[in-house]
Amino acid sequence: MVQRVCILGATGSIGTSTLDVMALHPERYEAFALTAMHRGAELAALCRRWRPRFAVVGTATQADALRAELQAAGVATTVLHGPQALCEVAAHPEVDSVMAAIVGAAGLPPCIAAARAGKRLMLANKEALVVGGRLFMAAVAEGGAELLPIDSEHSAIFQCLPEDRRAWGARIDHIVLTASGGPFRSRDPATLHAVTPEEAVAHPNWVMGRKISVDSATMMNKALEVIEARWLFDLAPEQIRVVLHPQSIIHSMVVCRDRSVLAQLGTPDMKVPISVGLAWPERQASGADALDFLGLKPLTFEPADAARFPGLPLAYDALRGPEGSTTVLNAANEVAVAAFLDRRVRFTDIHRINAGTVAAVLPGAADAASLDDLLALDARARAHAEGLARALG
Ligand code: NAD
Ligand code: MG
Repeated sequence: MVQRVCILGATGSIGTSTLDVMALHPERYEAFALTAMHRGAELAALCRRWRPRFAVVGTATQADALRAELQAAGVATTVLHGPQALCEVAAHPEVDSVMAAIVGAAGLPPCIAAARAGKRLMLANKEALVVGGRLFMAAVAEGGAELLPIDSEHSAIFQCLPEDRRAWGARIDHIVLTASGGPFRSRDPATLHAVTPEEAVAHPNWVMGRKISVDSATMMNKALEVIEARWLFDLAPEQIRVVLHPQSIIHSMVVCRDRSVLAQLGTPDMKVPISVGLAWPERQASGADALDFLGLKPLTFEPADAARFPGLPLAYDALRGPEGSTTVLNAANEVAVAAFLDRRVRFTDIHRINAGTVAAVLPGAADAASLDDLLALDARARAHAEGLARALG
């Protein structure tokens, strides 16, 4: 049967890789809805190629432009706009699976909508779980959705675990998330203040969107992934460990209670975890290169140094803090990374903004009660972080 796929964030790095995998299997997948906030011309080209039932853009002006262009090209796609439309297409009765590949907290509401509607939900958008983990997982349970991790580390853990999720808790002693260390793993920390956005987004092993590339350089990406793992695999913070593995060949590991270690390996190519998510529990061609064992550099491991990567302890503190602490940390980081990419603050200010915001914006019991409460907390943390960015800039 053909799977009708909704891709949230279709023009991004994960979105386009998803379409690349789908293109290898036209008999299995159909693009039902494609959404994008930026790069309208690229979305128009994707609509001409895939002819989805729906396209969703950010604003009415963008929608008018896309509608006119598609009409002229004879493409019958219905064009919608705005955050509510993202939720509508993600929960549409004819959609089978949703690729959540929006970057940032903006992806949480459509994820919750897809979860409540019981979809197969392929999650790349880690910030959604960091912002609203408890609500997100409750929506998955309530809707009977199938949540499949796409982040390479979490896909690796998922692939090392039995298909029956009820067996996970008894199996896992702890997990080890691997981290490449990003472009500054061996750079003198005293020179990090001078890093430019161009240097920060030049990742040694992966080609990704700008925000996650900066997160990889600060290791806030791993911090977010620790929080993501807490929710995906229902683990305590002390069951989640991080080790540097600069070659990015082992994508993560499960250490079982009997000390047997299960690892998942492959070339660093997101088409693999995307293909796993699309086809699960089957396997299919992904378009990725095979691992060449005889050509591999030695696989090495190093500790994740908290002095060099101070964002990592913030994640563990937030997990142990009141609910909503991870929402605040994520909001601060989104603001800080945007300010750095706009050249308003320095690379090392990202951590200052994150640490300053989590110290100042303390969530109360009512701040995480509903999605609206969480989004209000997110807005409060963003306002504080913007203030810090202005003061530092
Ligand atoms: P990207 O910047 O390349 O693409 C983001 C997509 O989301 C684009 O289509 C953009 O138009 C859309 N978008 C951005 N802001 C939006 C908003 N406010 N509302 C609606 N749509 C919006 O990002 P990416 O690298 O593809 O990453 C997407 C997500 O996947 C992130 O959460 C990232 O952490 C995660 N992820 C990415 C990779 C990777 O290799 N790129 C790996 C693991 C996880
Ligand atoms: Mg990852």
